[in-house]
Amino acid sequence: MLYFNLNRFPMDFKIKDTDGKARVGELILSRGSIRTPAFMPVGTQATVKAMFPENVKSLGADIILCNTYHLMLRPGENLIKELGGLHKFMNWEKPILTDSGGFQVMSLSGLSKKSNEGVEFQSHFDGKKHFLNPEYSIKIQKKLGSDIIMCFDDCASFKSDKSDIALSMKRSMEWAVRSKEEFDLTNGGLLFGIQQGGIYEDLREESTKRLIDVGFQGYALGGLAVGEPQNQMFKILDASASKFPLDKPRYLMGVGKPDDIVGAVLRGVDMFDCVLPTRSGRTGQALTRRGPVNIKNSRHKYDYRPIDPDCNCYTCLNYSRSYLHHVFKSGEIISSMLMTWHNLHYYQELMSNIRDAIINKKLIEFINEFTKLQNSGDLSLI
Ligand SMILES: [Zn+2]
Repeated sequence: MLYFNLNRFPMDFKIKDTDGKARVGELILSRGSIRTPAFMPVGTQATVKAMFPENVKSLGADIILCNTYHLMLRPGENLIKELGGLHKFMNWEKPILTDSGGFQVMSLSGLSKKSNEGVEFQSHFDGKKHFLNPEYSIKIQKKLGSDIIMCFDDCASFKSDKSDIALSMKRSMEWAVRSKEEFDLTNGGLLFGIQQGGIYEDLREESTKRLIDVGFQGYALGGLAVGEPQNQMFKILDASASKFPLDKPRYLMGVGKPDDIVGAVLRGVDMFDCVLPTRSGRTGQALTRRGPVNIKNSRHKYDYRPIDPDCNCYTCLNYSRSYLHHVFKSGEIISSMLMTWHNLHYYQELMSNIRDAIINKKLIEFINEFTKLQNSGDLSLI
């Protein structure tokens, strides 16, 4: 067994099986174990939208993700700390990963002013000015009581030219050192570094080396699935995912669609998060083994069948497409609840099937079958 005593916080990451570059593992934290490859449902504002925490857990999620940016602005990290920390606040006992806010200050806030020191930005709630830097981001994540803390990074737009992306990557690496220094001052959580460098393999490689020099308990790939084609993302993963230390978890941030996840696991990634299953659920899109199904489409109005007749989730066992179409059209709250339930079930079942395929050394066969079904399209009309 491997123990890493950085920050006096024990972490045990065991690789149990491999199939090519793909790995099945277990990340053991004090609040519970995470079976990898893992999908983390997103609980941006301390709630996985439209779901009770016990249901998120019962669907197979070992960990969820919450957002530092949102929680620092509302209700504020000090209030959450006073009320016993984020786990107690939101009634979720299992591990929580918090992102650092680096991505959100760029994508959500109003005018932001960046320097090597940090980022000054306007809240997207009320326009008030705030400041975030590596030290402050780590302090907030510690106050929240996060189990996995992310370094504060600088996220350039993927449309920026190479020289800007290089500058942004170098700044992120300097901020990774500062994040680590702040992290080491107090107890609590694990710290993951974040690789940057856009679609440029040389920048990604430099970033990886610099992160490994600092030393983290896990490594993330940032700035991918932000609009670049899937084959470009896979090229970067081919070149860089397996360059991270074998005995540390690898996390592909903000990814993704089911076929992104399957392809990334094949290339050695262990952890994922994405708003897709929850957000799609609220906008009437079910994700299924036969691809997406838009429940708002009038073809479902008289359809007595479930979203997926082969799915064993609560929604598919009890509700017809006709009912789901009706409650979506009527703007009923249960529409978001039932659709999100199905989507999170689908994602967790996909991860479980991926883990089984790796254990049985049949990942390629699994992916071939997965792709065939995804491309087959929705059930034909009744
Ligand atoms: Zn279902």
